[in-house]
Parts: sequence; C-alpha cells; structure tokens
Amino acid sequence: MPAITVDDITTLPRIPAADPVRARARAVRSVTTAPRGFEGDGFPVRRAFHGVDLSELDPFIHLDQMGEVEYAPGEPKGTPWHPHRGFETVTYMIDGTFEHSDSNGGGGVITNGDTQWMTAGAGILHIEKPPEALVASGGLFHGFQLWVNLPKALKWSPPRYQDIRAREVAMLASADGGALLRVIAGEVGGHAGPGSTYTPMSLVHATLSPEAELSIPWRAHYNALVYVLAGAGAVGAERVPLQTGQLAVLGPGNAVSVSASRTQESRSPTLDVLVLGGRPIREPVAWAGPFVMNTRDEVMQAFTDYQAGRLGSIPVVHGAPTTLTESQPDA
Ligand code: MN
Repeated sequence: MPAITVDDITTLPRIPAADPVRARARAVRSVTTAPRGFEGDGFPVRRAFHGVDLSELDPFIHLDQMGEVEYAPGEPKGTPWHPHRGFETVTYMIDGTFEHSDSNGGGGVITNGDTQWMTAGAGILHIEKPPEALVASGGLFHGFQLWVNLPKALKWSPPRYQDIRAREVAMLASADGGALLRVIAGEVGGHAGPGSTYTPMSLVHATLSPEAELSIPWRAHYNALVYVLAGAGAVGAERVPLQTGQLAVLGPGNAVSVSASRTQESRSPTLDVLVLGGRPIREPVAWAGPFVMNTRDEVMQAFTDYQAGRLGSIPVVHGAPTTLTESQPDA
C-alpha cells in the first residue's frame, strides 16, 4: 500500500505524545462491517458507512473503499456519466489511476496518493474512469471516495475542483515513530493539510507498523470515525478490536487512539486507517441517488433539472463515451 511514503519516518515532524492530564481518548460507540458491492460499471467497493445513522456521520454522507483489486488486462472499470448536486466528493487514490471529466470541460488524472476534491454544489455531470492504458494493462486499483455534505446555505455554490498532489499532503510521524500520518485536509496538532473544505473537517490516512500506538489530538466539537483500509488493530479508549473493512464511530473526547496488532496479515504488513471527522451540520438530510439536499422536494427538483439538462451536458471530448445512462444509486 504505497500512497505516499517516506524512506525515513524519523525525519518527519512528530505529533506530541498524548498529555495524560488533558487528553480524553474517545470511546467507541459502534463498530460496523462494510458490505461489499459494485459501483459504476462494476468496480468492487466496500460500503464503509453502511448501517450507521446519518446523524452519527454528519457532516459525512457516504464512503466507498474502492478495491483493493488487481485487475486483469481489459478489466478496469469506471462509472458512466452521472450528475451530482448538494455536496462534495473527495476521491483519494492509494494505488492506481482514475481519470475524471465533467460537463464544464474540467477534469484531470489522479494517481498514487493524489486526491481530487470536487464540489458539486449547484450541480454537475461527470464521469470517473481508469485511463485507456490502464484498461489495456490491468493492474492494482485501490482508493476511496468520501461524500461531504454542504450546509443549506452552500448547496448552490458553483462547482469547483481541487487537485491535491501526493507530495502536497502534510506528512507527520506519531510520537513513538511507528506511524506515518498523511493529513489530506484539516489539521492535526497544528499541521495543516492542503484540502480546503467548506465544512470544517479533518481527513487523515495513517499507516501503523505492528505494535505502533497512535494518539491523534482531535477537536472536541468534531465527530470522529476510524475506518480500516487494511490490517488489524484496536481503537478508542477501551481498545476495541478493528480490522479490514470495519468502521468505528467514536464518542466525545479530544483524542483518537489507534494501535496496530503485533501480527498483521501477510498481504498487508501494516495497519492502514482513515481517521475522519468534522463539525456536524445538523440540518435535515434528503438523499436520493446522486443528490443530497435538505428536503424531498429539492431532491425531486434535482432529478427534474437533470432530466431537463440543467445540470450540464456531456462535452465533446475525443474518445470519451457519449452515452448518458440513468443516474446510478451511489456513483
Ligand atoms: Mn460521481
């Protein structure tokens, strides 16, 4: 699992060891296991937030771990053209490459540790797919896509993108030097990541060596979620076991603790987790398919606007598919 890494972790700034007096490690409120499914034209995902109430996830809506899968030649898949309105998507590639095009003529390529942050806002059509060369060659594909809600006042923001390159991510070491933290958005211990978010939040990809102990200072007014991309360990004040494909929702406190088991699966020698949280929006959520609004009427309006072409149209791009399919449930 490369994403971005360093040769010598001891050269990185370290987050301070947890203060035994002031640190209040958050306890685990629930542990759920992500069911497997397929997204878009059929790439394998784990639905990380399945079975968790939206009020616990707020300001997040949805999280798919994409892969990990080793594609045979000709096998890599993406999504058809589809719309979004009312939220932001954060796509992070750990291994592999994803290409993106949208109805405004925008787009880009993200690979190996890059992040694409797309604010759908008032509405956009887009397509996400592996590049032709990767379809031909096959190869490893692993990443995630997170949906971050927008508050009512910002749902009509104009669409925008941030392409965050792997090298821009803030890299930190744990106090014991056994964990590498990549701060994609928000901040950890005063070290800010590059992602600029409408909704205040922090997003960290941490890699823990066997037996590493990690305590991350975490804003008390943020919620806190830990999702295991690969490996085995324990999370929270009471050290609840957590492994690949499991999500822990944490309760109140100002620190998130994660530790890696001594023995890891041979395929993945480290524990890789996403730690994420943000300031809850606390507004009604009306979510259907690719639209996340405040009321059912607004969702129906989004479907009407999409059918009428008011969320944009497919640009003429050499080699791009031109068929518009029905909107996918969660693409
Ligand atoms: Mn999409």
